[in-house]
Amino acid sequence: MSSTVISNIATLVTNDPSLGDASPLGPVHDAAVVIEGDRIVWTGASSKAPATDNRVDAEGGAVLPGFVDSHSHLVFAGDRTEEFNARMSGRPYSAGGIRTTVAATRAATDAQLEANLTRLLTEALRQGTTTFETKSGYGLTTEDESRALRLAARHTDEVTFLGAHIVAPEYADDPAGYVALVTGEMLDACAPHARWIDVFCEKGAFDGDQARAILTAGRAKGLHPRVHANQLSYGPGVQLAVELDAASADHCTHLTDADVDALAHSRTVATLLPGAEFSTRAAWPDARRLLDAGVTVALSTDCNPGSSFTSSVPFCIALAVRDMGMTPDEAVWSATAGGARALRRDDIGRVAPGAYADLLLLDAPSHVQLAYRPGVPLVRTVWQKGRKIEQRWV
Ligand SMILES: [Zn+2]
Repeated sequence: MSSTVISNIATLVTNDPSLGDASPLGPVHDAAVVIEGDRIVWTGASSKAPATDNRVDAEGGAVLPGFVDSHSHLVFAGDRTEEFNARMSGRPYSAGGIRTTVAATRAATDAQLEANLTRLLTEALRQGTTTFETKSGYGLTTEDESRALRLAARHTDEVTFLGAHIVAPEYADDPAGYVALVTGEMLDACAPHARWIDVFCEKGAFDGDQARAILTAGRAKGLHPRVHANQLSYGPGVQLAVELDAASADHCTHLTDADVDALAHSRTVATLLPGAEFSTRAAWPDARRLLDAGVTVALSTDCNPGSSFTSSVPFCIALAVRDMGMTPDEAVWSATAGGARALRRDDIGRVAPGAYADLLLLDAPSHVQLAYRPGVPLVRTVWQKGRKIEQRWV
């Protein structure tokens, strides 16, 4: 197995305080990283790097763990440019817009869905995302939901069954019937292809009792819960997520003090998705409040065609720093180690011996520039499980 050293790193973000100074990012300056196969085998000062077969000169750039995008919806067809255009002209967002994508997704072939998925994954990888979670939720029939999960599972281990995205249009007058379908035949068909189960717990989607029934049924089939919670209004989603030991409560925009307190005393990560607030001109989630209370925070894109059509984690980092009260260090941690926590993984989201060699090299000496230079393509090179992805700029 050949080994490679990446040396001449101005700032190495390890997310391991034992490797750098005592801060959560565990930064090492004038650093090197050694990769062997798909793993990291050594980190430390450049001057002490061991001999290796290959060498990459980081030329004074910063190296970070690859971004862990723990919340996306990438299996769909069509786009909603017109809806976005209308909303930016004053029409409020409602969960019903999902039906547009459901119709387009059902009408698409497997090849069309997979081509769109691959295009978005490539886009995300170029911007530094080396691990992503993605969900079903635009099929809403047993056949279409299981198809979405099968396609997603070809590209990631982090696959989430979201049959309970909205009540399928065919069941508009019978939501209880749809919950019975999701917890019965649909779950049976979908569980073999997924690791997680998710519910959109929101007015106009699923209430607390329905969400509990769906997540509990999923858990009985071996799926672990995560919840779309408290995005558009106050509600029971966060408390339910904590009650069921969900890995993550996602959005967390409208929180009571009791919600924040429940998260702070749980293993449930609060995953913030500022692309959604950006794209719907909604009030930002208050990351500062959560962090000050001791809640673990993750940052993700929520990439989807309706409410957040961005695959860019750096963009979300910039928004979180500018508008959600996070420091640059906190935002970078949340987009890497925080995402890993939201997926209950410790083999990603850090640069330390034993972790996967998922890395990105910036055209900048510090990770702070991800927020300082918003919108600039700073990611020069990405390694995914040790495989170097070349950036082919002209
Ligand atoms: Zn979502």
